Amino acid sequence: MNHDASRSLYDRALSVMPGGVNSSVRAAPQPYPVFVDHGEGGHVVDADGNRYIDWVCGLGPLLLGHDMPEPLQAAVQSRAAEGPMYGMPSDIEVEHAEFVCRHVPSVEMIRFVNSGTEATVSACRLARAVTERNKILVMQGGYHGAQESTLVEGDADDPKPSTAGIPQAFAEHTIPVPFNDPEAAREAFETHGEDIAAVLVEPIQANMGIVYPVDGYHEHLRELCDEYGSLLIFDEVITGFRVGGLGCAQSEFGIDPDITTFGKIIGGGFPVGAIGGKTEYIERFTPSGDVFQAGTFSGHPVTMAAGLETLQYCAENGVYDHVDRLGQKLREGLSDIVADHAPEYTVVGSHSLFKLVFTRAEGDPQGDPCRNGCRQAPGCGRHDACPKRGTDVTRAETDRYARLFRPEMRERGILLSQNQFESNFVSYGHTDEDVEETLEAYKMAL
Ligand SMILES: *Cc1c(COP(=O)(O)O)cnc(C)c1O
Repeated sequence: MNHDASRSLYDRALSVMPGGVNSSVRAAPQPYPVFVDHGEGGHVVDADGNRYIDWVCGLGPLLLGHDMPEPLQAAVQSRAAEGPMYGMPSDIEVEHAEFVCRHVPSVEMIRFVNSGTEATVSACRLARAVTERNKILVMQGGYHGAQESTLVEGDADDPKPSTAGIPQAFAEHTIPVPFNDPEAAREAFETHGEDIAAVLVEPIQANMGIVYPVDGYHEHLRELCDEYGSLLIFDEVITGFRVGGLGCAQSEFGIDPDITTFGKIIGGGFPVGAIGGKTEYIERFTPSGDVFQAGTFSGHPVTMAAGLETLQYCAENGVYDHVDRLGQKLREGLSDIVADHAPEYTVVGSHSLFKLVFTRAEGDPQGDPCRNGCRQAPGCGRHDACPKRGTDVTRAETDRYARLFRPEMRERGILLSQNQFESNFVSYGHTDEDVEETLEAYKMAL
């Protein structure tokens, strides 16, 4: 494959953008990223004219793939043509809000914003205002966007900013605990419960994972929040409208969070975020309440049209059946391949999320893993070796993935997640053929 055009674009980019990109993970591919020219269905074509099966899929928003179905394209074009935005309300944001409130069990009211980061920032502010407390409990290896309260590492006794530029004083209001460890969450509440405004958790850890919750884990968090008067915030920026269909992961797991953050799919491929939940909480946002929240582009008509048309298309066209079926086919196919080629590796994912984590051999795994992605089954012979929390993925062979495996797959025409931590995403644009070709490439490259 020739990559001259990408190489030369990256050369120019390095002079004018830090690391040559506008979002860090895009620079992870070795030795440099491919620059995309355009998308087609489940594929992208790069600046050199190479065509790939694309499992990055925008990092989640493109549930329908790269081709906008006719009604979505028409809505986007007409909204753009009518003057892209007004800074005044318009019909489409009301319709979109009504749709989400109708379908997501815990959401009675919603505020649209412009990114998942903005959504989690506003959700933390809201929870702090509602409870008049400061601390936010988060999961190690969770991701809630590029924001001060959650870019924190360490543990409950010693939280530290995970990046330069964040005062230690911010980190002191964040309590990181290990995901899937009910005892650790209880201990944190026993020590800090009276100060905990909220638990902020991804229903499935999907930015450093993919890690499925152990049975009863979210119920346990819900109970702790009730016991101590804290709010439960589900960060459904990835899982929203992907896991559990239009009811989102909260309906899949039967959990009733107080606040839910959205992003990605809810904007149909355009910049978006949202904070939804019970009226008594969401109404605390200005102007009905006292928690300031605002945005020039919030409720942008083009984004609202794209998001609503995407979700309506899903409701009417069996999109979830298609993407979940292909997700399962990938996970089962990968299970068969690793059984032969790399039995120490772990197949993870759920619904239309999938990934192979390059876990190292620990002992001698006995018995068969779940063939539809690791479910954290306590009786599984691989239970000790499989990642139980996002941070466990750091112990996998991340260099082998980044330096050998991913480039090899790219040369075979398959684009996988840009590092070992992100998920791969199935879209409605992907086909059975794409799945078969991808599995064949895994078999050759492993
Ligand atoms: C992507 C993501 C975010 C951040 O969203 P942005 O739109 O990138 O700011 C927050 N939380 C989760 C769970 C995400 O996957």
